[in-house]
Amino acid sequence: MNRTDYVIDQMISAKSIAARVESLARAIEAEFAGTDQLVIVGLLRGSFVFIADIARELSNLPVEVDFLEASSYGNSMESSREVRILKDLRGEIGGRDVLVVEDIVDTGHTLARVTEYLATRHPRKLRTVALLDKPSRREVDFRADWVGFEIPDEFVVGYGIDYAQRDRNLPYIGKVRFPANAEAAATDGAA
Ligand code: 5GP
Ligand code: MG
Ligand code: MG
Repeated sequence: MNRTDYVIDQMISAKSIAARVESLARAIEAEFAGTDQLVIVGLLRGSFVFIADIARELSNLPVEVDFLEASSYGNSMESSREVRILKDLRGEIGGRDVLVVEDIVDTGHTLARVTEYLATRHPRKLRTVALLDKPSRREVDFRADWVGFEIPDEFVVGYGIDYAQRDRNLPYIGKVRFPANAEAAATDGAA
């Protein structure tokens, strides 16, 4: 499909996200009060904007930033059931406080697998925060400790989240929509 054949309807404004990130950070701060070091682990690449904002809202805590990459969507809109660790952490987490920062919990496979994997290193405390949650899509029993917004089963982009690597730089969350004429063009062989 032609990359310009879709439109994006705003779902959550930048202002709403900022307010929610601030309140999430206050809850996280309370949970980790008194920590000597909190390692915040962003799941690449979709969480890069969220973790940047969360990190700056946690400026009262001693925070270390690390990243992990797990395989998920590739360039399609379908979730993969099998989750692989493509890039591991740089630092140690054994005996330390860890917060995993994710963009979206969808089927739940990614965070279920990633938290299981990180738990084998015996962090002192392991918590998860996801900006978005699509509870209606869940296939495995997983709940993030904190969720920014519950959303319906829509494909979303923006604020770090992509469609075929585009739209990560939008400051808001929007849902992708394919106008009828664009779909017709795509089936005519525009892809
Ligand atoms: P899960 O393993 O929970 O099914 O999938 C989680 C991952 O799927 C998310 O981290 C994200 O990368 C991807 N994902 C789920 N829903 C969406 C969506 O609406 N848009 C995009 N771009 N990625 C999504
Ligand atoms: Mg992701
Ligand atoms: Mg993606």
